Amino acid sequence: MRKHISVKIISILSAFVMAIFMFAGCADKGNGEGGSTSSNPFTTTTRGDVEGGTHIYNVGTTNEDFITNGKTEYVVVLPDDADYYEQTAFNEFSTFISEATGAVFESVRDSELTDEQIAGDGKYISIGDTAIFRAANIALDKSEFGDGGFIIKTVGKKIILTGATQYSTGTLYAVYELLHQLVNFEVYTADVITYDTVSTIKLPAFDIKDIPDFPWRVVNTGMTCTDTTTASRMRMNYNRSPGSTTFQMTLGGATHHTMQHLIPAADYRESNPEWFAKNAPESGEIQHCYTCRGDELQFKLFVGTTVEKLKAETIAQPNAKFANLGQADMPYWCNCDECTEVRETYGANSAAVILWMNEVSEQYYAWLNEEYPERDVTLSIFAYHDTTEAPAVKDANGEYQAVNGLHLENGVTVMYAPIEANRIDSMYYDDTNLPDNNSRYTEILKGWQVVADSISLWIYGTNYATDAWITPYNAFNAIQDNYKFAKENNVYWFQYQRRNSNSDKNGVGFMNLAAYLDSKFGWNVNADYNTLVNNYFNAVYGPAAQTMLGYFNALRAQFAVIENNGYFSRMGETNYVEAEYWPEPLLKQYIAMCDKALAEIEPLRESGDAMYDIYKEQIVLESIGPRFMLIEFYGLNYHQSELLEMKTEFKSDIIDVGITQTAEIATATVGELYKKWGV
Ligand SMILES: [Zn+2]
Repeated sequence: MRKHISVKIISILSAFVMAIFMFAGCADKGNGEGGSTSSNPFTTTTRGDVEGGTHIYNVGTTNEDFITNGKTEYVVVLPDDADYYEQTAFNEFSTFISEATGAVFESVRDSELTDEQIAGDGKYISIGDTAIFRAANIALDKSEFGDGGFIIKTVGKKIILTGATQYSTGTLYAVYELLHQLVNFEVYTADVITYDTVSTIKLPAFDIKDIPDFPWRVVNTGMTCTDTTTASRMRMNYNRSPGSTTFQMTLGGATHHTMQHLIPAADYRESNPEWFAKNAPESGEIQHCYTCRGDELQFKLFVGTTVEKLKAETIAQPNAKFANLGQADMPYWCNCDECTEVRETYGANSAAVILWMNEVSEQYYAWLNEEYPERDVTLSIFAYHDTTEAPAVKDANGEYQAVNGLHLENGVTVMYAPIEANRIDSMYYDDTNLPDNNSRYTEILKGWQVVADSISLWIYGTNYATDAWITPYNAFNAIQDNYKFAKENNVYWFQYQRRNSNSDKNGVGFMNLAAYLDSKFGWNVNADYNTLVNNYFNAVYGPAAQTMLGYFNALRAQFAVIENNGYFSRMGETNYVEAEYWPEPLLKQYIAMCDKALAEIEPLRESGDAMYDIYKEQIVLESIGPRFMLIEFYGLNYHQSELLEMKTEFKSDIIDVGITQTAEIATATVGELYKKWGV
C-alpha cells in the first residue's frame, strides 16, 4: 500500500529559506576552468550550466474551467490500440488526479468519437497517438525526441500530450509532467509521492517540449532497478526486469555480461573450442575468443550463431530497444596467437570485439530492417576491464586517431565503464597535477570518441570494501558533475551504479537521495542541487527534515576530513571503514541525531498518521552505519549485556529496513554478520 502526503506551498518556502541559511556562508570556489577543487563539503557543483538541452516550458492561464469543486467535464481520449505506455499513462493520471482533486476522469477510444468531435473544440485530454493528436498536425521528430521526450499543448479547450513514437515512455512521462503542472506531483521514493490537494483548477495554456538530456537513464538501486513502477514515475529506465515493458533486451536471461549466457560454454565449448578464450578456466565465468584463433570458418560460425540467437531474443522481446553484447565480468582476456596479434596491431584488446561486432551488426540490421522496419534496436559492446582501452593513438598534434581507421559500425554504442576511476571526484577531476586524478580515464574516452559514433557511460557511485554497504558513503561530490560531463560528451546511455542489492528497496548512505538526484540530473543536468536536496529532506523526513539534513551534512563534513587525509574511492581502495576515521563520540553524536529525528516524528505515531512508518524507516536506515561501526570498533567499551542488546536491536532494524547485503560479494549477507555476532 502506497501512502501519499500533501505538501503545501508553505513547506516549499521554508525549504527555500533553509537552503539560503545552509549555504549562504559557503563561497563556491569552483567557477574556474577545468577540473577545479572545492573545499566546501556541502556543495557538489563546480561547473557552470551545460548548454544543448531541450526543456521548454511556456505555461499560461485561461479562464476555462478544468476541474471545479472536484468535478470535471473533461474526458481522456486514448487510441483504439493504446499501447502499454498510453494505457498506463491514463491509469496513472486518473488515479493521482482523483486523489488530489476528487475529480473522476472517464476515458474513451478514438473510434467512439465522431469526426466533428475530433475536429471540434470539445473538452478532451488526448494521450498518445490519437485521431485528435493527428488532426492537430503537431510534428514530432522521432530522432529528436527519442524514446523519452514529449510535448504537452493546449489547443483550444483540448490538452494534447504525447511522446514521439508508438510504445514510447515519453507519453507516460508527459502525464507525470501534467500532474506536476496541475497539482505539484513529485516522486521522491517508492513510498513518498507528494501532491497538493485542490478542488478547482482552471485550464492552463500549455506549450511544453521536454526531452531528457540522455535518451536512456539507468540507476542501479533496488528502488529504480527492480521496482519498475517507481522507476517509470521517476522517469528512469530499468534493466533488471525482463518482460514486454522493459527497454533493455535480455540475452540468455542476462542484461550486461551477456555473452557467456547467449553463447554458453556448456553448449558450445566441446564442439567449437575456438569460440572460447584459450586461457579460460574449466568452469565459472568464461570469456570468448573474438578472433576464434584466426580460423575463418569458426569466426563465421561464431558470428552466425550470435546473430541467430540475437534474432530470437529480438522476436521474443518485441518492445526491447537496447541490447548489450558484453563480456563476462572477469579481468582476463584470450591469449591465443591471433588475439595477441590483433592487440599488438591495434594497441587494444577491444579491436577484436569491434571487428567481430561489425560483422554481427551488419547481418543483424540487414535482417531487422527487412523483417521489422518499424523497430529501433541499438546494439552495444563493453569498454570494460581488459577491453577498456580504445584502438586509438594520439597523433603529432595531440589528436586521437583510430588505428588503421578501425571504426565501430552501424551505430553500435560502446559502453565505457571506467571501474578503476576515482569515484569520490567526478570525471572532470582530470588535472594531472592533482592527486589521484581521472586523466587516464578521460583520455581513454577521447580515444573511443574517434572509434565509435555513440558513447554510453557507466559510472560507479559505489564501493566494494568489506561492510561497505552498511556504512556511510559520500556519493555527493561527484554526482552532478558526472552528469554534466556525460552531457558535454554527448553520452547516449548513462548509468550510475549505486550500492545495494538490486532487489533491496533501500540503501545505506542516503542512496535513495542519490537515486532521486540521479533521476533529476539524468533528465536535466542543470537542475538545482540545493533545491532538490532540500525538497527531498522535507518530503522524506517530514518534521525531522532539518535534523536529518544536519546529520547528512555532518557526515559529508567528516568525509571531507577523511578524503583530505588521502582516502579515494576506487578499485583496490584503502578502506575508510576504520576506527581511526570514526571516533566513538562522533558515532554517538550521529546516533543521537537519528534519535532526535525519531523523537520529532513521534507525535505522528501518537496521532496515527500514516507517514510515521515511512519517515521512521528512512531515519532508522541512516542510523545503521554509525550503529554498526560503534558495535564493531567500540563494542568492548560496553557491558556484555548492553552490547548484546545493541546487536539484537541492530538486527531487528536492519531486517525492518530490508538491507540484505553488507557488501557486493554474494557471500557478504547480513546473515553472516548475525552469525559472527552471535545474534
Ligand atoms: Zn583468442
